[in-house]
Amino acid sequence: MEFTIDESWATPPYRKGKIGAGRWHVLLGPYKVGPRGCDWNVEVWFDPGLRSPWRGLGFSRRVDPDPLPVAREGWLRGDLHCHTLYSDGDSWPPEMLSAAAETGLDFLGVTDHNNVGHQLAYGPGGNGLPIVLPGIEVTTYGGHWNAWGTDRWWEFREPESKAVERTIRAAAESGAVVSICHPKPFGPPWEYQGVSGFHAVEVWNGPWAQLNAASLAFWESLLRRGDRSVALGGSDTHYLHARDLAARDADSLGTPTTWVQVGDRPTVRAILDALREGRSFVSESPRGPQLYLEPDPARVGRVIVEVRDGAGTGLVMLSEAGAVETTAVTDPAWNRTFDVPAGASYVRAQLAGANGNIRALTNPVWTDRL
Ligand SMILES: [Zn+2]
Ligand SMILES: [Zn+2]
Repeated sequence: MEFTIDESWATPPYRKGKIGAGRWHVLLGPYKVGPRGCDWNVEVWFDPGLRSPWRGLGFSRRVDPDPLPVAREGWLRGDLHCHTLYSDGDSWPPEMLSAAAETGLDFLGVTDHNNVGHQLAYGPGGNGLPIVLPGIEVTTYGGHWNAWGTDRWWEFREPESKAVERTIRAAAESGAVVSICHPKPFGPPWEYQGVSGFHAVEVWNGPWAQLNAASLAFWESLLRRGDRSVALGGSDTHYLHARDLAARDADSLGTPTTWVQVGDRPTVRAILDALREGRSFVSESPRGPQLYLEPDPARVGRVIVEVRDGAGTGLVMLSEAGAVETTAVTDPAWNRTFDVPAGASYVRAQLAGANGNIRALTNPVWTDRL
């Protein structure tokens, strides 16, 4: 037998990982050895140029032998934002889809700048996993917005608020889900402050520490005004092949991951509906933590929070008045109920790590729906 272990891939069922310096042991696995013993011979060699045999075979789902944590039944995990060679990415659409499959994503939104040429390379999506959400990143001088569930380009050449809002509303009316992209410094930022008509805000673009707190604050200011826009995330992955990128350009699919509730219908339509309606949360990767917030069916005025794989984080419950309760998540499987504070119009949940970085956040439960 022969197997390979590499930092980025390994022969199933071995686990990928860095080969560190030190003394290594080889575990021989014959399940039964007769009284005469057996001859054995171990050869170890190092080949830094070895490519994964899984690449170039088309894509098959989850070749990574590290099993992903199980999501709640009826929930899918995906990445909503990436670029291919059809705009400023470095990969062909099938390569991006293959990478999404390897990352363990159930759906992938591909959002080339002002271009839907990539959609022909994927086909319509929906056949197997990952499901492709046909999308586009409408890229204007004053900010970017994503639309999913559309097969055409949208006007991007008129950088005035009125024109931008008119186009956003037209895209939404056509059935697309529309989201403001990365409203944060260097996002580039969103300069059309008064514009409305979109469904969602990309509160988390790339690793959390890349100024996403500004995007979250932007979204929160909308919530405080009673605007029920939805939070979602996207990695904005451009490069699968480039090496030696500056840290700020280093992105990877699934960082962050948006989780959506689709029930027993894993289809493009069901994913779009869940995004539009906010049946979703965002977490740092396909491995979690998972954060579910819902009304408590047993009592009016109360919500239930379930956290999976979030031990060691701090859970914060927030309303328009700010943090209303903070508590430590102590177990990998953890849940608790919370009373919604009197007078609050919504409550939402987020998890933070010890360094203060957000690791997961939910959409609000609006109290008039409790
Ligand atoms: Zn952008
Ligand atoms: Zn982008």
